[in-house]
Amino acid sequence: MSFKEYYRAFKAYTDINSKEYQRRIEELEPYLLRAMKKKGKVLDLACGVGGFSFLLEDYGFEVVGVDIDEEMIKKAIEYAKEKNSKVKFIVGDARKLPFEGETFDYVLFLGNTTVHFSPKELNEVFKEVKRVLKKDGLFLINFVDMRELLSRVQMGTIVGEEYWISRVMIDEGEKTAVIEYKSEKDSFRVRFAIWGKTAVELLAKLYFTPLESVKLDDISYLNVYKK
Ligand code: SAM
Repeated sequence: MSFKEYYRAFKAYTDINSKEYQRRIEELEPYLLRAMKKKGKVLDLACGVGGFSFLLEDYGFEVVGVDIDEEMIKKAIEYAKEKNSKVKFIVGDARKLPFEGETFDYVLFLGNTTVHFSPKELNEVFKEVKRVLKKDGLFLINFVDMRELLSRVQMGTIVGEEYWISRVMIDEGEKTAVIEYKSEKDSFRVRFAIWGKTAVELLAKLYFTPLESVKLDDISYLNVYKK
């Protein structure tokens, strides 16, 4: 049971040329640009294969991408070579960032990355984000309200091109949920941390000042915070 199988199964996070990945970029691009008026230094935190890093570089931002997964960073570096990109991609942990304080004008945390973290861990991440942001820097977080999502999920819900949801198991304390995905050829399970909108916002308020919350669809959001 791991996220590796999940990311292998769904191109939306691993193939920047796929229509699923491009759809995510198209959805967020106008709101990112609206919030990021001044050019500056960007940390694409938990950058995955780097699609959003390249987008912002194209708009004139200086971007560093960090992800804990070596395979993701390897792929990001391959894309960077193809694109002649200057984005610096680094393997690193969002809970302990390898940067001095007040380094970045913007920190981005996109693609529902919150599901990787327990409350204690996400608290550590937000603390680090605050530390590496410059004074008046912005934190942009895109997340799915997992409580809403779980209330809507039904057995057989189709995900991507090949998979459907065959089982959902929510733990007793409703902190995590295991979702089982099946296709004609295989099946796998992933344990997600359950972050509802309220919980994300309460935690973020401990460290940042809320500026804006954009509702992207019935269950997903882009929130913008100032340090
Ligand atoms: N932000 C990217 C995007 O929107 O395409 C990737 C989103 S993907 C849902 C979540 C990413 O978080 C994965 O690439 C995973 O490796 C990364 N991740 C998980 N835990 C992490 C940690 N402690 N530090 C840094 N990255 C982490």
